[in-house]
Amino acid sequence: MSVCTTPPAATAPDIIRQRGQREVFCGLTGIVWLHRRIQDAFFLVVGSRTCAHLVQSAAGVMIFAEPRFATAIIEERDLAGRADLDDELDRVVTRLIERRPDIKLLFLVGSCPSEVIKLDLTRAAARLDERFGRLPRILAYSGSGIETTFTEGEDACLEALVPTLADAGTANGLMVVGAVADIVEDQFRRLFTAIGIERIDFLPARHAGAMPAVGPNTRFILAQPFLAATARALHERGARRIAAPYPLGAEGTRLWIEAAAAAFGIDPARTESVLALPARRATESLAAVRAKLAGRKIFFFPDSQLEIPLARFLARECGVELVEVGTPFLHRDLMDAELALLPFATQLSEGQDVERQLDRCRAEQPDLVICGLGLANPLEAEGIATKWSIELVFSPIHGFEQAADLGNLFARPLARRALLAV
Ligand code: SF4
Repeated sequence: MSVCTTPPAATAPDIIRQRGQREVFCGLTGIVWLHRRIQDAFFLVVGSRTCAHLVQSAAGVMIFAEPRFATAIIEERDLAGRADLDDELDRVVTRLIERRPDIKLLFLVGSCPSEVIKLDLTRAAARLDERFGRLPRILAYSGSGIETTFTEGEDACLEALVPTLADAGTANGLMVVGAVADIVEDQFRRLFTAIGIERIDFLPARHAGAMPAVGPNTRFILAQPFLAATARALHERGARRIAAPYPLGAEGTRLWIEAAAAAFGIDPARTESVLALPARRATESLAAVRAKLAGRKIFFFPDSQLEIPLARFLARECGVELVEVGTPFLHRDLMDAELALLPFATQLSEGQDVERQLDRCRAEQPDLVICGLGLANPLEAEGIATKWSIELVFSPIHGFEQAADLGNLFARPLARRALLAV
């Protein structure tokens, strides 16, 4: 007799699909973590003062001696068609490249204004890339609010990188896809190497010159769930995806590494011998977090597409009760392994009609709401504790060693509220 320990999947009919007013970031926000990850890249937003303001406020109070992002502001005379935008852009890019020889990869990032006036940045990037002899490499993607929601900016950026990756020929290797913190990369690299996977690459790499090659023998595994377009582009280059839950929490990390190891034909006993200790340490470190979170009711507003893996981690490893799990988009094929682990009948929602969602949230009176900055303070004022979802994409949260830190990101607002109540 065998015992099934996996609870039944969340059922499809439970998904609420709504369209209406949304409270989300545009894809420009991705620049804030992408420029930290690719250390010789520069992001030039072609947009308005609103876009410049957004990127600067998302980057917080950081002041840079050598900033690696900027906005080329479309002025009124550009909008009125009195200036040749291609010439203007060429001038701005030439000046930038002359002043900053340290830039090895330049992204022209489209915005709502550049899209509305139909400025073709892909063509401009190709023209400039040719002109500068591919040094630096010049690429384009859209981070506009019309086309992208928050983390989709990273997806668009990586999708633009894929066609520039070298051909791996028949070489065999594992590619980890999605921007992770450098310490997380180092930890994963150590684990995969110990298991016996010989060639491990990360997309994006820390430097433009170290981007991985890709070919029909490349197997890739997503570290982030919001990379549907990048996954498609890698498929087009012949690479095959390894399906797995995402490496959040002790269980998610273990299943993620096991899936990669199985795809490379590694003996499960060897994988187990490598994972046993770090997995046990992560589970033990989570015990204190679980004590703080168990039984708490949590409500996720849609924001980053990380919501479903985070909800799975919170439910299974921290004992929380999920009230509603909102996601801006639900890519079923990328989320299947996660959905199978969610508690039975978890209420999912895709898209947003923010007023109706707020009504559902207030009716449930959750202990903690995960939401964007626009909703957080108003909900706090109503007496509902909140956690800013943006912190979850800026902090190292993947892997065994970060599992307790991840749990604590959710426990902290509850502790603060308890402290203030005394
Ligand atoms: S790209 Fe669009 S949504 Fe984003 S800051 Fe600029 S105008 Fe606003």
